[in-house]
Amino acid sequence: MLAAMITDVDRDWLARAVDLARQALDAGDEPYGSVLVGADGTELFADHNRISGGDATRHPEFAIARWAAGNLTAQGRADAVVYTSGEHCAMCSAAHGWVGLGRIVYAASSAQIGRWRAELGHPPAAVNAIPVQDVVPGIVVDGPDEEQGARVKELVARMPR
Ligand SMILES: [Zn+2]
Repeated sequence: MLAAMITDVDRDWLARAVDLARQALDAGDEPYGSVLVGADGTELFADHNRISGGDATRHPEFAIARWAAGNLTAQGRADAVVYTSGEHCAMCSAAHGWVGLGRIVYAASSAQIGRWRAELGHPPAAVNAIPVQDVVPGIVVDGPDEEQGARVKELVARMPR
């Protein structure tokens, strides 16, 4: 599917997602944050990575899918946009697809983050990086964004090895 364009409004939401990623890092979690925005342009739900407690599935995109399933109509989910600091992993892409959420805008791609982590000497991730479009057919995805992606890169560089 053709990607739309990342607008100034999108960039503001991406900045919010990256702010959440920084909060996660400061709390001892991995630097990933995500925001769910409704069709009317209001923030519906936001979260950041919470894996420091030992549950490696506590990703914000997964939390958003679960929240959306319990709180939005099918149409509301389809019309909502998920802004996220880093592209969904395969688990979160699947959750996004299963609950029928709409467009995804990310600051940095999984491929970029994987490359940065490797350059910094982090061990390979436990799950392969698969583009969202390869998990969810027909999904509209926009990213990466140069400015907010650079902020994500700085956060990844601050991660403990
Ligand atoms: Zn994930």
